Parts: sequence; structure tokens; C-alpha cells
Amino acid sequence: MIDKPFETFSDLFTKVQIQKLNKLAIHNLFDLILYLPNRYEDRTRIFLIKDVSVGQSYQVQGQIKHVDVKYFPRKNLIVTIEDQSSALQMRFINFYPNQVKQFREGEWVRVFGELKQGSLFKEFIHPDYEIVNPDEALEQNFKPIYSLVSGIRQKTLATLIQKGIRYIKENNLFEEFFPELIKQKKFPPFIDAVDKLHCPPKPKEGEVIEETITSFRQRFIYDELLSNQLFFRGLYQARKLKQAPEIQFSLDLHNMVLKNIGFSLTKKQINAWHEIMDDLGKSIPMNRLLQGDVGSGKTVVASLAAFQAARSGYQVAFMAPTEILAEQHMSKLSSWLVGTSLRIELLTGSLSIKDKELLYKKIAAGEIDIVVGTHALFQEKVRFKSLAFYIIDEQHRFGVEQRLSLRRQNQVMGNLQAHQLMMSATPIPRTLSMSYFADMDISIINELPPGRQKISTRLFSAKKRNDLLKSIDHECSLGNQVYWVCPLIDESEKMQLETVINTHQKLQKYYQSHVVEIIHGKMKAKEKDKIMCDFKDGKINILVATSVIEVGVDVPNATLMVIENSERLGLSQLHQLRGRIGRGVKKSTCMLLFGDKLSDTAKKRLRIIYDHDDGFLIAEEDLKIRGPGEFLGLKQSGLPSLRIASLENDEAVLNEAKSDADKLLKIKHPSINSFLHCWLPNHEDIVNT
Ligand code: ADP
Ligand code: MG
Repeated sequence: MIDKPFETFSDLFTKVQIQKLNKLAIHNLFDLILYLPNRYEDRTRIFLIKDVSVGQSYQVQGQIKHVDVKYFPRKNLIVTIEDQSSALQMRFINFYPNQVKQFREGEWVRVFGELKQGSLFKEFIHPDYEIVNPDEALEQNFKPIYSLVSGIRQKTLATLIQKGIRYIKENNLFEEFFPELIKQKKFPPFIDAVDKLHCPPKPKEGEVIEETITSFRQRFIYDELLSNQLFFRGLYQARKLKQAPEIQFSLDLHNMVLKNIGFSLTKKQINAWHEIMDDLGKSIPMNRLLQGDVGSGKTVVASLAAFQAARSGYQVAFMAPTEILAEQHMSKLSSWLVGTSLRIELLTGSLSIKDKELLYKKIAAGEIDIVVGTHALFQEKVRFKSLAFYIIDEQHRFGVEQRLSLRRQNQVMGNLQAHQLMMSATPIPRTLSMSYFADMDISIINELPPGRQKISTRLFSAKKRNDLLKSIDHECSLGNQVYWVCPLIDESEKMQLETVINTHQKLQKYYQSHVVEIIHGKMKAKEKDKIMCDFKDGKINILVATSVIEVGVDVPNATLMVIENSERLGLSQLHQLRGRIGRGVKKSTCMLLFGDKLSDTAKKRLRIIYDHDDGFLIAEEDLKIRGPGEFLGLKQSGLPSLRIASLENDEAVLNEAKSDADKLLKIKHPSINSFLHCWLPNHEDIVNT
């Protein structure tokens, strides 16, 4: 009941109220009660002005002494108030003439705000205030503060939420989903937790508000993480009941390919490969994430498995996020397959319609064993005859939702489902692999192939660009190649394009004797390709690029990378970019250029990337700074990011929720679906469509 649209309850809210709530993505009573306050304000007592200190928030009450409009040089309204202990002022920088009239000397005001140090007095800037009768009663409860959008006021929302909670209680609309579990854990009832989080009781003497509501928060955190675990563990266990083709292993083929590859695998590569082959040999569909830092050699591991699947008589799809990368894979895989009878083809968006049609036909007829390609691989028109295994490279470029939706499109042969392998160079921090990736098994390559040199990273103020230009000149004259990256920094592609083009022109002028070329997302695939080939072949000294080079491209002779505006990039992205160099035996350097005014977060980020080259550590830090929602791109996913639980702080609860979810799934508890329907309204679409 509680997750039915508001309209179901005709006596609850008006149309206008419902519209307002919809603006906050609140569509039913459950959404409404889940919309928790960000913080609380203590309006239950009044502080004496002599007792308040700068930097904190207080409620005070005083009598108006002066009302002045001063020029500073802009117009400011200054209202001085005084209580029995001392005085302070309220400052309004934007105000209406009416507001000035409202403040009359001798009147009493009750003010709430954060105290700042003004030039003479302590002051509140744009505080919340009310003209009062000095004896007016105080609030009994802490005031919840919600995040809002324009057109809705705190008070309106708080009132609607209170009304909703009352309505649920009066009509008994909420029942515990798993009452036995809750009782056993001695948790407070969910609806009490909701009540107390929206309208917390006054803290006891010596207690802060956070302590007062701890047990209620814990209940909420538990339920939220339980929903997350039921969803992802549910997917995990449902998969175990499905059937997949068993892949046979051919040692002959394996040895032949290894000869073509020409290097031997690292220990960690061999481990990962074994894990994958074990899965492929079973009749349960694999769903595995292969994660390993940039340059750790994931491609070869995935390819060895792909070849075995193809040798077993099935088809394999190998998908990369960009054409450049798909082509690079194509050329690598083809060279490794020399001498075998396996047939491999490339399918990208830039093929002519005729060539595409032909390819579709061959794929449908089973005349191709391995298809390498971009997104084009997963279009309706591509019908495999016997797809048994598909590989998705650079998974971090696709959000969680896209990851799950690829499985939806997963083509089934009869009742068989294909095995899936995803690769990611952005390591997934542990708490994330336990939550948003809990439907997958994970293999890790945490070792680089031998002979790699450590990349040295330097921070460079953009003002010193001229010094940099000289050292690049030197680098090029040694025969080394340079990436000059102007990354995507805001939504405006046009502006970004301008930056790249300008930079290219400037560098071209400066380096008359070097070949300076440009590559960016707006170029045709063919052009991009030509540039990338020329760069690989050493025909270009300096390549000015947008972040199209971020993923996968392999040019061992590139030893220097300059990244403009590095302070504005995310940590994982910087790490990915930097991973484009240091791929050969020569020493590589990454120069991070930064602008004038560095924010504290930006400084922190640059410090981390400067100090560390361990992708796992960098990803953990990135997760801390950005939070899981942004880290995973959950916004577009239909899966809400966590509202109250924090993966970092609530790991213990996450563990508990996991084992409880497994138990509930095991006994097929009848309330699982309705519980999930409340917490993750789109979950069925994500799983089924
Ligand atoms: P990533 O994990 O970033 O996708 P790649 O698969 O592109 O890394 O591998 C990076 C480079 O290292 C490639 O040129 C690849 O051929 C090479 N490589 C991979 N494994 C080994 C190995 N065991 N020994 C030497 N070179 C290797
Ligand atoms: Mg790769």
C-alpha cells in the first residue's frame, strides 16, 4: 500500500502538493518517509549573546536597538539587537524596502543562524528571523532541514511529511517486512525510526542530537543496506540456477596462441585466467569482473579465454567503448590467432551499411567465431547464431545500469545463457564490490608485467608553461613521443573543442621542427584512426588530445604526458590518463598542469595522484571524495545511491545485511519482492526487461 501513488489516497494530498513532491522525486508515501533531513537545527532553546561563539549556529533573542542602511560600497541593511548579556548584528545584503520597515526599534526578534565575525560585532548574515513576543513559546523538537528545490519551502515539506507519517500510522499502512529478523536484532520498529529521524526528540542533558537518534539511524541504515544486498545477492543467486554452454579446453590451440603472443603471462594473469576458465567450463553462466590497473595486461587474459570458447564451436563478442580501442583489440587478437582457423571480424559504427549488412548475415549464419566491436555489437540487428561468451572492456565507462542492461540484451541460445566477462581498469573499492558489484565474481590482476618503469609525476603551475615547452623539445629530439591532453572539464563540448584546437595551433607554431597533430571526439572515426595509427608508427611527435585517449590505447614509445587543468579532473580519470604512458621500457613522466586558485579538494586530489601510483588506493580515495553515487554514475541508473548508509562507515552493517539477505533469499521469504519494490522501485525493470 505504502508504495502506491499518492493519488490512490484521495483524502491525503492536493494536486498542487503532489506536484511539489514530485519535483523532489517523491511519488508515494514510502518515498516521502525516505526523504530524510540533511541536518537538524536546535530551536528548542535561546542562547545568551555573551555565550555564542563565531563559526557555530545558535538561536538568540534580542530587542532591536538600531536599524541602519549602510554602503559598503553596496547597500547593506544592518540591524543591531541586544539581550540582557550583550549585542550583535544581523546583516542583509539583499533586502526589500519592506524588510527595513519591519524592523522597528524596541521590537523583539528571535534569530537563528551561523555566527560570523564582522568588522566590529559578531554578526549573522541573512539569518532566519521572526519578530516575536518575547514570551512566545519555544519549539519542542529539533527542526529538520531538508534539501529542497525552488518552489518548495522547508516548512511546507516538513508539514507534508508529518501529515504522511500520521496518515500511515492512523491507517496502519506500514507493516514490517521481516518482523522475525527485526525482533531478533532488537531494532526499533521502522516507522518509529522514520518518525524520530524526521522529528527527533530533544536530546537529554549532555547529549548531542546525533546520539539521540543513533538507534533509529541504525535501523534505517540496516534496512537500506538490506535492500541493496537483497537486490544484488538476489541477482547473484538467480544466476546460479540458470544454464550456460560448457566450454572445452584445447591445449593445442592454447600453445599455438601463446607462441604468437610472444611473452609469458605474469602469475596474477595466470590466476585470473584460471578463474575464468573454471567458470567457462561449468554449465552456470559466468558473470565475472576482471579488474586490474591500467597496463596490467587484461586483454590477453580475456583473449585466451575467448579463443577457447570459439574453439569449442561457439561465438564470442568482444566489446570496447571506442572505435580506436576496438580496432586495437582487433589487430592484437588477429595477430595472436595467426595459424589457427578461427575467424575474427570487426564491427563498428563506421562500417558502410553494406558491409554491416554482410557482417550481420555472417554472424547470424555462424560464419564468424569472434566479433570485436563497439556498442554496435549490441544492437537489435546483430543476431548471433551461438553466442556463448561476451567480453566488455573498460566496464567503468558504462554505468551500473548499463552493465545490468547489457545482460538484458544477452542473447540466449535455447535455454542457455552466455557467459559474461567485464574488464575494468578502475579498481572497485572493496565496499563497492560488496554492494553494487555483489552480483558478480571478481578476479584481480594486481601486478604489472615485468620491465615497466615507474612513471614519475610532476605538478606544474600553468604559469610556468614556457619551461615545460623546452623540456618537451628535448624529449622529442630523443625520439620520444608526447601526449598533450586537454580533458573534458565541463558540459560544454564546444568550449572544450576550442581549447584543444587552440592548443594544437599554438604548439604547432612553437615546434616548427616537430609534427604536432590533434585528435578529438568530433573527428570522424577514420580520421581518428589515421592519427592514432600515425602516432603508433612514430610519425607524430606530439599528439594534442581530448580524453578520447583515456582508455586502453597502447603506444609504448610515448613517454611524456601533459595534462591541462588537471585540478579539475577526478582521481580515477587522472590515473587512467597517466596510464597511457609508461607502457614501454623507457622512463616516463606525467606533468600535471594546474591553474591559479586551487580549492582544498583540488589540492588534496593532486596530492594523492602525486604521491601514489596504486590504482586501488587511488580509487578508494576517489570514492571517499566523490561518494558512490557519482563514482558509479548511479544518477542515470534508476538505482538510487544510498540515502543514509555510507559504504565507508557502515561496512559492519553491510556485512550483516549480506548474511541476512542470503538467509532470506535461501528460504525465499515471501516479503522480499514487496520490500524491494519499496526501496528500489525500478528493480524489476532492471532485472527483467
Ligand atoms: P590493460 O590491462 O590496461 O588493458 P593491456 O592488456 O592493454 O593492459 O596490456 C598492456 C600492454 O602490456 C600490452 O602491450 C600487452 O601486450 C602487454 N602485456 C600484457 N601482458 C604482458 C606480459 N605478461 N608480459 C609482457 N607484456 C605484457
Ligand atoms: Mg585494456
